[in-house]
Amino acid sequence: MNILVSGAGMAGLAVAVDLASRGHGVTVVERASHFRVNGSPIDIRGDAIQVAAEMGLLEGIRERRVRMTELTQFVDGDGTPVARLPLREIGDSDDDVEIAREDLANVLVDALPPDVVIRFRDSVESLVDDGAGVDVRFESGDTARFDLVVGADGQHSTVRRLVFGPESDYARHLGLYISLVDLPGEVGSDRLNPMYNYPGHLAGIARYQDRALGILMFRSEPIAYDYRDLDAQKKILVDAFADHRAWKVPDLVDAVHDDPELYFDSVSQIHLPTWHRGRVVLIGDAAHCATGLSGRGTSLAFTGAHFLAEELERAAGDHTAAFERYAARQRPYVEFAQNSVGDGADLVVPSTWEAIAARDERLRATGAA
Ligand SMILES: Cc1cc2nc3c(=O)[nH]c(=O)nc-3n(C[C@H](O)[C@H](O)[C@H](O)COP(=O)(O)OP(=O)(O)OC[C@H]3O[C@@H](n4cnc5c(N)ncnc54)[C@H](O)[C@@H]3O)c2cc1C
Repeated sequence: MNILVSGAGMAGLAVAVDLASRGHGVTVVERASHFRVNGSPIDIRGDAIQVAAEMGLLEGIRERRVRMTELTQFVDGDGTPVARLPLREIGDSDDDVEIAREDLANVLVDALPPDVVIRFRDSVESLVDDGAGVDVRFESGDTARFDLVVGADGQHSTVRRLVFGPESDYARHLGLYISLVDLPGEVGSDRLNPMYNYPGHLAGIARYQDRALGILMFRSEPIAYDYRDLDAQKKILVDAFADHRAWKVPDLVDAVHDDPELYFDSVSQIHLPTWHRGRVVLIGDAAHCATGLSGRGTSLAFTGAHFLAEELERAAGDHTAAFERYAARQRPYVEFAQNSVGDGADLVVPSTWEAIAARDERLRATGAA
């Protein structure tokens, strides 16, 4: 089949590799001008590890494994460690491979068969599904017809909006925003990943390999902003941290101005009753974002991509049957991940000084300090 994949993130790349290796013609459209490989280390957990093995990717992933979460400590305003984030608090386990997002993206890009077409700097503008195929108009003005369209364009998916309706119908805001900012000046031999809280805010540094990333999180009701306007996102972030001078908060805020690839997003889940309509199907965050608090977004991207590719092969042309079987296999993983978030926001970003002290006390009492 001739298949369009919208979005070249973890889900889009994984499904492109899997579909193309089964003989489908695959075109990937990515809004950015290049593969967006930045981001902090992410986890591949549970059955997603088996999926990576079946896709022939596990060896390359294991070679690039990092163990960042073992080194994470909460610090006070002077930088003194006050409590350690124990592995069990964030669901870490033996069947968990942590890898830099850029390394995972590169493993996937390297695995793309050469006949996969990538259209950078473009996006689906409209879709018309006439039952026999899908006519797509791109923002560039180009048009093309595909047998199927896979929406893998993330939390703020355009394909989902065009086919299922506005994001507000499906998004559940968990009360937080997150940003990751490159910190070239922080690279060094220090192995500690410090996290500093003040009420409703977290500022931290994640070090892995030869990289250092600033993490900024804050509590807020939903904020209306343009997902494509990086300057607007930087302003929201700078304003949220502007009044606090302790620890390295001012340095992290300064770094926001200098990062051309800054990642900023709301911590929101996506809940849809169905992930397919006609010849269009959603995978990854576009279908069922669980948020970084679940630690399972990339695992879900892998299982969903692989189940979809397997079921399309098994259904031999009956895409509706394939979409239904993909959803039936994927749904339990999604429910588990979305439910696992629990009180993760209170652990990472307590809302008062009292709650911060109580969290630290609890972690010390469990022997984690
Ligand atoms: C730059 C970046 C950094 C991230 N860093 C982290 C992190 O540090 N920790 C974490 O837990 N999660 C992070 N995430 C989210 C994480 O990658 C996902 O939750 C998970 O891997 C599921 O992947 P996905 O492919 O469904 O979504 P995503 O990884 O978000 O990928 C979606 C892709 O679709 C593209 N896209 C969006 N709209 C369009 C459009 N209209 N047309 C074409 N393409 C479009 C985006 O540019 C992106 O490449 C990050 C995401 C991005 C984009």
